[in-house]
Amino acid sequence: MRIGLYPGTFDPVTLGHTDIIQRAMALVDRLVVGVAINRDKGPLFDLDARVAMVRAECDLIQARTGGEIVVHPFENLLIDCARDVNATLILRGLRAVADFEYEFQMVGMNRLLDASVETVFMMADARRQAIASKLVKEIARLGGDVSGFVPPMVVEALAAKYR
Ligand code: ADP
Repeated sequence: MRIGLYPGTFDPVTLGHTDIIQRAMALVDRLVVGVAINRDKGPLFDLDARVAMVRAECDLIQARTGGEIVVHPFENLLIDCARDVNATLILRGLRAVADFEYEFQMVGMNRLLDASVETVFMMADARRQAIASKLVKEIARLGGDVSGFVPPMVVEALAAKYR
């Protein structure tokens, strides 16, 4: 049984994230979507709200793909979270070159902490590569239309936040 961990802040979940989750289902038998508490980042949505939105989207993907998806909030080290859920793969999405530097360091450090966990990078469909939670929040805050970037439930949640 191949278990993969897809970690992130998901503040909020976007169509970029769901694209990666759907792709990941072809690589693993069980996907654990790790929702980081990430107090440092000062998330717009609290953990419960982020988890609820991720879970709703994962239920839809699970029904479509037939694979198993578990949503798992975590606060500890990523590599420890991977061990906790028995994941042998960490899955990350890559967008622009700007992501690369940070991800490169993370893989290096995580490998020093535990060489048995492999990190795999995926790219979203071209139309979803530019989507970033940070920009979605900015657009929503300024009253722009985010319906092409996030699921309908998240459109509603953003509208309620910025009303
Ligand atoms: P983090 O705080 O770990 O960067 P995010 O929620 O921003 O959390 O992202 C989680 C993962 O999803 C990261 O690997 C990120 O690169 C990836 N990701 C986010 N948006 C996209 C996208 N549009 N295309 C591909 N990967 C993405």
